[in-house]
Amino acid sequence: MTLSFDPDCIALPLGHVIDGQLIAAEGVLPIRRPSDAADYAACPQADAAMVDRAVQSARRAQAAGWGAAMPRERTRALCAWADLIEAKAPTLARLEALSSTRPVGQLVAGDIAVTAEQIRFFAEMADKEGGDLGPTRDAALGMTVTEPWGVVGAITPWNFPISMAGWKLGPALAAGNAVVLKPSEMTPFSTIILAQLAVRAGIPAGLVNVVLGCGPVTGGAITGHPDVAKVSFTGSTGAGQAIMANIARTGIKPMTLELGGKSPQIVFADADLDLAADAIARSIMANAGQAYVAGSRVIAHRTIADDLAQRLVARMVPDRPGPTWDAATVYGPIISDRQLGRIDAIVAQARAQGATTLTGGARMDRPGYFYAPTLLAGLAPDSPAILQEIFGPVLTLQTFDDDDQAMALSDHPTYGLCAGIFTRDLSRAMRAMRRVQAGTVWINRYGRSRDHILPTGGYRQSGLGKDLGREAYRANRQSKTVLIDI
Ligand code: NAD
Repeated sequence: MTLSFDPDCIALPLGHVIDGQLIAAEGVLPIRRPSDAADYAACPQADAAMVDRAVQSARRAQAAGWGAAMPRERTRALCAWADLIEAKAPTLARLEALSSTRPVGQLVAGDIAVTAEQIRFFAEMADKEGGDLGPTRDAALGMTVTEPWGVVGAITPWNFPISMAGWKLGPALAAGNAVVLKPSEMTPFSTIILAQLAVRAGIPAGLVNVVLGCGPVTGGAITGHPDVAKVSFTGSTGAGQAIMANIARTGIKPMTLELGGKSPQIVFADADLDLAADAIARSIMANAGQAYVAGSRVIAHRTIADDLAQRLVARMVPDRPGPTWDAATVYGPIISDRQLGRIDAIVAQARAQGATTLTGGARMDRPGYFYAPTLLAGLAPDSPAILQEIFGPVLTLQTFDDDDQAMALSDHPTYGLCAGIFTRDLSRAMRAMRRVQAGTVWINRYGRSRDHILPTGGYRQSGLGKDLGREAYRANRQSKTVLIDI
């Protein structure tokens, strides 16, 4: 059954979007509002047959001319889509806030505006990125032409649903591909709207397909589908490994993986401590720590560690906690009861091993799944609080005596997503920047000014390939080498 769609209607039926149509399906995976723990809706689950239907729709639409069209036509359609996303921002924001951890007050000018701008950035690249050209050794003319992959399979997490969908759809579509996208089963709403707005904006039906369901079933059917030519995934390192294994089992295809992190914040003795404390506290409290960039390990010089800790404690006070749909809310909830329990268990274990709680360390006394911003000190180096990605508002504090020790502590055996460096000494900052194993390094700031012109991605098991920037566009095309005898 296909249903008509009204993007101004907040109680839209949940369904897959295939060939531009919303296809109703029975909800089987409960969606609970994290702000008040109320059962809100149920997410359908696409089986392999439904995923195949979406992939075939994508294939047809891509082959019908999107990839071969004048790039400028893609630019125009994508820019019209970005305009429509901005025009529908209030509706999108209300929907996003209901099921996610994103406060509504941060969505319109934040996630949604940035998503629209990011789509325009990639749209403008469509006719500006070409191949190489030049004579080869025996004077034949050599060149590369670039072409879209065809159908890109994309899978996104729940922590920034609109932004993550935009990160995948913008470059893939601009580069001439069609997409089959599976959002998180906990936060599918805004992605459904984005797909419907794409059709309204003039992007041909079938280029943006959305299938709903859980990771192993629906996600697995996408990554293992023989007609999905490239996979783009954002989520946990464990799921990334499962996806790699599934791709290896079912064929070989390129993949972009944006995975977890446990990012260090290195504060040298000469740092501006107020500036450092502002940046670190903001980073761990943004989205209640449920951000891939969260700088969760503070590594401070022994002589300033107590001073820094005091400044952090003073700042780690939840600002206007409340339901995500309340315009005044700044500090939102944890996504689920399960995730809240996990955070609590890691903090309890750290305490049992002798860690000191300098602030927080408990659930907040209010409806929904709220956790207090937490600072732990005195941890053993092998404590799970230091090694595991907590994905909550929990900071650990470790101390060092010299630069070598700082760098050794900053090194994580698995992750290498981001790092912060705080010092007034530019040479020391640049030396540390070179040594730190991380895909993004902030110096004397943290987490802010992430911009779509710059790529993002992880070292080590924090990822493979990049989202955003020119690199993301290029990863969405393959190159063909041509040699002409002249
Ligand atoms: P998750 O890995 O549990 O799920 C992410 C998505 O993958 C969901 O849509 C899920 O249904 C799907 N999935 C799970 N298992 C799968 C499988 N075997 N095959 C196919 N799909 C599968 O992650 P999450 O809890 O939704 O998000 C939090 C994680 O995402 C954190 O680790 C965080 O660091 C990471 N993240 C990384 C970035 C980045 O840019 N590096 C950005 C945002 C989030």
